[in-house]
Amino acid sequence: MLALTDWISGFKKANQPLVIAGPCSAENPEQLLTVATAVKAMGISIMRAGVWKPRTRPDAFDGMGKEAIGWIKTVKQETGLVFATEVANPYHVALACEAGIDILWIGARTTVNPFLVQEIADALRGTDKITLVKNPINPDLSLWIGALERLNRSGISRLGAIHRGFSSFQKSRFRNQPLWQIALELKTQHPHLPLIADPSHITGNRELIAEVSQKALDLDYDGLMIETHPDPDRALSDAQQQVTPGTLAEILGGLRVSERASSNAMFINQLEALREKIDHMDQELIEVLSTRMKLTEQIGDYKKENHVTVFQLERWNEIMRTRPEWARLAELSPEFIRELYKIIHDESIRIQTEIMNKTSEPEN
Ligand code: PEP
Ligand code: MN
Repeated sequence: MLALTDWISGFKKANQPLVIAGPCSAENPEQLLTVATAVKAMGISIMRAGVWKPRTRPDAFDGMGKEAIGWIKTVKQETGLVFATEVANPYHVALACEAGIDILWIGARTTVNPFLVQEIADALRGTDKITLVKNPINPDLSLWIGALERLNRSGISRLGAIHRGFSSFQKSRFRNQPLWQIALELKTQHPHLPLIADPSHITGNRELIAEVSQKALDLDYDGLMIETHPDPDRALSDAQQQVTPGTLAEILGGLRVSERASSNAMFINQLEALREKIDHMDQELIEVLSTRMKLTEQIGDYKKENHVTVFQLERWNEIMRTRPEWARLAELSPEFIRELYKIIHDESIRIQTEIMNKTSEPEN
């Protein structure tokens, strides 16, 4: 278990998401001050600005480094805003701490590397600096948790997680696939760890930021980190996903914020009644599945007696054709039913393979 200290409630109102806004990269003092002034006017408490940028290709803009730390320090003094920046090694940690940067985050390309994470954790020992850990670029929950644990063992108790999606070779409408279930599993295992969505890096596309932000709030995330730039199209990094402060205000204004729980007695009663119905349905579903698996076992025995293979391609094709069609008629998503049947079929194969491999009872 992580030993955590609350820090997030000091930065946000109850039932409102924490917002971290600011440019992908600090490019020059004017850009930084323009965003800071706009962000402050919106009542946003935390500003982000990347100083060292982990770029994929060597000739891409890789941040203004040490010089930019100085600009942040000045804008921080001028505006009183709280600042967050990315650190990827002990040198970055030393410079950021020296400049009084309030919040550090570990980027997705660093979280994958336990050596670096450990070096950063060692460098942070004794500071209890608020540190946010982005998910690793590969969908590995243990690596994500491992990085949080390394920091926690160095005495960092003011931790948070940033969900920025996972890279994939598969083309999708997102730059990084969200794979929400991984972040939700982190939330389930560590319910007190603040979870912040980064719709900018998930989508890679400013048109999709509102949609992904809403989804994160519906999933009870604690905050949003949104890249904001005075002139996004001319940004030196991540131009397509950055929004102007004006667009940020529109996105935030359009979000529907739901409460985690309600004290309205009527709502609670109705929710209870509906959940009770669902409990009954789930019992029925499990009974039906159990009966189906018993039939699977019978078929397994039958295949064994007749020396027929477990996997029957034609039958599987037929299932994959008919079930999504039946789903459509029943107003269910065919894609959902296709995925469900893949799981059911895997289990049937497992059961029948076990039957095939069972040596027959010796007769006596
Ligand atoms: C960033 O926040 O600008 C960044 C580089 O993010 P990530 O580590 O998620 O790619
Ligand atoms: Mn970026």
